[in-house]
Amino acid sequence: MLDIHKIRADFPILSQKVNGKPLVYFDNGATSQKPQVVIDAISKYYQEINANIHRGVHTLSQLATDAYEASRGKIQNHINAKFAHEVLFTSGTTHGINLVTNGFASILKPGDEVLVSALEHHSNIVPWQMLCEKTGATLKVIPMNENGELIMSEYDKLLSDKTKIVTVNHISNALGTVNPIKYMIDKAHEVGAAILIDGAQAVPHLKPDVQELDCDFYAFSGHKMCGPTGTGILYGKEAWLNKLPPYQGGGEMIKEVTFEKTTYADLPHKFEAGTPDIAGGIVLGTAVDYLNEVGFENIQKQELELLEYGTQRLLEIEGLKIFGTAAAKTSVISFNIEGIHPYDIGTIIDKLGIAVRTGHHCAQPIMNFFCIPGTIRASFAFYNTKEEIDVMVEAIKKAKLMLS
Ligand code: PMP
Repeated sequence: MLDIHKIRADFPILSQKVNGKPLVYFDNGATSQKPQVVIDAISKYYQEINANIHRGVHTLSQLATDAYEASRGKIQNHINAKFAHEVLFTSGTTHGINLVTNGFASILKPGDEVLVSALEHHSNIVPWQMLCEKTGATLKVIPMNENGELIMSEYDKLLSDKTKIVTVNHISNALGTVNPIKYMIDKAHEVGAAILIDGAQAVPHLKPDVQELDCDFYAFSGHKMCGPTGTGILYGKEAWLNKLPPYQGGGEMIKEVTFEKTTYADLPHKFEAGTPDIAGGIVLGTAVDYLNEVGFENIQKQELELLEYGTQRLLEIEGLKIFGTAAAKTSVISFNIEGIHPYDIGTIIDKLGIAVRTGHHCAQPIMNFFCIPGTIRASFAFYNTKEEIDVMVEAIKKAKLMLS
């Protein structure tokens, strides 16, 4: 059981006032708040062990390197990767996806096909479009239905021996749909295609097991899971990471450099050129420890209650429509109120201390599917409460009165 008062006390920002009102933070899909242990770990790093890693023989450099590699090991355990060198530090999901699309530029040929789902964030669309433009491969879209669920019978039809890679998010940021990724991974492998999972919205809510899933790549961001901004992880199967060329050239990623030829370092360093966000990487491990201490079962129980209660309370508002009604859904309610622009509601309730996201949520194709300019998105974390949902519902009712 979650002791919600204790949990909330871990997050100093939650006791702040915004615009003179107690903050209600429902923009967790954009980024999560950070617990004190994470905030403290950042200054502890700079106060005690700051040094560049993998280079110095001096003590501080060794301490920083050990802490950085220990964090990699923690994340390896957390996602159950077979090897630590399959866990690459990145600056976030976007970086991880671009690393893979850059690598596939040397693999794809004209006539090959890339399958992308209709539910994707722009970060998991645009890099694949760029890859297809570069290689002459064709981008095909796995369609969705009115509930915001991917249509598996259409997916099955799209798969063929031309399919070289499939990409899909684990959970949609715009609608909260949980996609049937295990099925999709197995089906992709049946035709010999690789598959990348965009786990950006999944890792705050669940613990992915990459070996059980058997995905080829799994990308996520640290900042959505209580970690620092500018951090992220790309998991890749060893065989794929060995096959793909490096993404960026520079220090750290080489074995030997001459003007005639450079040889590359072994994994994971081949993909980690330059000085990384050392503090961020170390503290991402602290965030993972924190979430595991809270416990993912507790997190899911609290978030499911919030989703059910929030859905029921919001539907009391006349003219309110929820987009994304998938059977498998988590932590996100995306909605509109008839005749009112989402931005207007967002602006008014911000004055009442409530942070929600309004707009297309970097998923314009989903908005186009529903023929809407955008939605209001309330996205919950385990530190949110039903009382906060009540505050939001009352604020929306007030805003609606003002605007209609
Ligand atoms: N994919 C999804 C599903 C997301 O929600 C996000 C962030 N909103 C991203 C990718 C991109 O993550 P980042 O900006 O941290 O790279």
